[in-house]
This record gives sequence, structure tokens and C-alpha cells, in this order.
Amino acid sequence: MVVILKSGTEENEIERLTKELENLNITVDKSQGTGCTILGLVGDTSKIDPWRIELEDCVQKVMKVQEPFKKANRAFHPENTVIDVCGRKIGGKKIAMIAGPCSVESEEQITLVAKEVAKYGGGFLRGGAFKPRTSPYSFQGLKYEGLDLLHKAKEETGLPIVTEIMSPFDIPKFIEKADIIQVGARNMQNFDLLKELGKIDKPILLKRGLSATMEELLMSAEYIMAGGNENVILCERGIRTFETYTRNTLDLSMVPAIKKMSHLPVVVDPSHATGKWWMVESLSKAAVAVGADGLIIEVHNDPKNALCDGAQSIKPEVFAKLMEELKVIAKAVGREI
Ligand code: PEP
Ligand code: MN
Repeated sequence: MVVILKSGTEENEIERLTKELENLNITVDKSQGTGCTILGLVGDTSKIDPWRIELEDCVQKVMKVQEPFKKANRAFHPENTVIDVCGRKIGGKKIAMIAGPCSVESEEQITLVAKEVAKYGGGFLRGGAFKPRTSPYSFQGLKYEGLDLLHKAKEETGLPIVTEIMSPFDIPKFIEKADIIQVGARNMQNFDLLKELGKIDKPILLKRGLSATMEELLMSAEYIMAGGNENVILCERGIRTFETYTRNTLDLSMVPAIKKMSHLPVVVDPSHATGKWWMVESLSKAAVAVGADGLIIEVHNDPKNALCDGAQSIKPEVFAKLMEELKVIAKAVGREI
């Protein structure tokens, strides 16, 4: 952090501010120019609020030179994080293919889709039991029964389960039934939930908020990691822009950007990003080409009658074709499916 002082600041003022900063375990490096004085703050400045310092009468401007996220920062952890989920790795050479319906609807439905996903080489089963719906009158999910059905589908297929949590009260149940706990876009900044998830060691799939910047996403990851849970997978699921043709706008530029800033794995959700099933194939390929560590895709056996997100769900046969085509793209960028 760099503090630029107003020209003409008295020496005793500089000394007072320097002492105050040193009391926070910061080393202060003073540079005297002709027009102004600059204080370079060296050490852990994460607890210093730049706005607080800018309130000092003698301060012209405060500039951050480091990102405010530490544990998620590649600067402090240069190698990629690889997360082990039931022996399957996310963040390594193999692209994690997470697929399944938006929501668990019945035992028959989730078992059927799970078997199709496993048959075509998918690595993980997704399915919502607790659904964050815009309307309170829409299907809200089968809740605890949904978690039980997912668990059953895992027993039948061996696919680890990815499912969304909405309340911190449900954490013990999710520890028991889920292999990766998803935090949805709407809860990305539910800080109480993030703090509680920081206390466990289950992998967390953290989705980017509807209007969240990359730094805000990384700060939310930091909440979980600061509590001790470093198993965080980031997810791009489209952001809100002026475009209305697609449900959201898929920000693929975030993949290389996040990879530069952070060591955490990144997966892409082309289903929620577009809202259109026929765009899922091409954007999945683009996501792999741009360096994503995985994809989370909605697959439904009967999209027309799905209780949630049918329009963006691909059928199992489309998933099968996509899996084949992705192999070529993955190989071209030094990965495998
Ligand atoms: C979901 O994955 O089913 C979901 C609701 O996603 P998002 O939080 O990205 O909208
Ligand atoms: Mn959905």
C-alpha cells in the first residue's frame, strides 16, 4: 500500500502517522520528493482500511498495490490447487465433468440421469435439492428427500454428488450426503454461510454472483479459506449485462484472469450462463479451450417436462456427443476428459 501525503505536510505529522502505522506491525518506508512525500507500507496490510487512512488531513491519496485476498492469491501459492473428491481430482490434467438435472425431481429421474452421465464418462452428478427460485410459487426442490435420492444415485453409479446449500443450518446434512457443496450465485456474498463453510473441510463450489466482479468472487473464496477450508472451486455461470438474448453473459475472459490471480480451480457453467440448451455445446468447447478445469452442465432426460430449467438442459444423447467432441479440444490444450 502506498500513502501519498499532501505537499507541505509538517515533519511531526509524518512522524505521528508513521508511528500509528508501525503500531499495526507495518514497516513504513518514507520517500521524500520535491513536491510531496510518499509512505510505502510493507507487511500484512490486509487489515488496514485505505479509506480510514484517507480521512487523515495530511493524506492526499492511498493506493493498494496488492490484492486484498491472500489465501486465494497465486502470489502466495504459485502452484495450482488440485482438489480430491472421492479420489477424483479437480484442477489437475483431467477436466472435471459435472452433469445432471437442475433439480432432483424423483428417484426414477435422478437415477436415470445419473446412469446416463456415468455411462458417457461424466465424473460427478449435479442436482439441486434446495432450489433458490425467483418466484416463491415455483418448485422449491425436494429438500432432504432430494439429498437422500442423490445419495442413492451415488451408491448406484459411484458419481460424487454436487448440490446446493442455502442455509448454514443444513451443513451437517450436507456433510453426510454431498461430496461438493455448491454455493449458488445468489448466496455468493452470504457471508454468514461462507464463514460456516470455512469451518468444515468439504470441497465448496462457489458460483460467481449475478453482478459480482472477479475480485468480489475471490474475496468470497477468501471468507471460506480464512476459516480454514482451502478446498474451494470457483465457478463462472454468467453475469448480468445489458444483453437480454441470453439469460446471462458468459464471461470466459474470467478463466485466464482468475488463473493469473488465483491458484484455485475454475469450472464453467454454460447452462445458467445462456439459458439455452443449444448454446451449451459450443460454449463448453470454448470453456475448455480457454483453460477451464471443469464444466457443470444441466442434463435432463425429458427437458420439456423438467420442473426447473428445462430450456437450458441438454438430453443425455447430446451430452454423449459433447463428451466425444470435447476430447479433441482438451487434447489440443494439453488436458484430458
Ligand atoms: C444451479 O446450479 O442450479 C443454480 C441455481 O445456479 P446459479 O446459482 O448459478 O443460478
Ligand atoms: Mn438450474
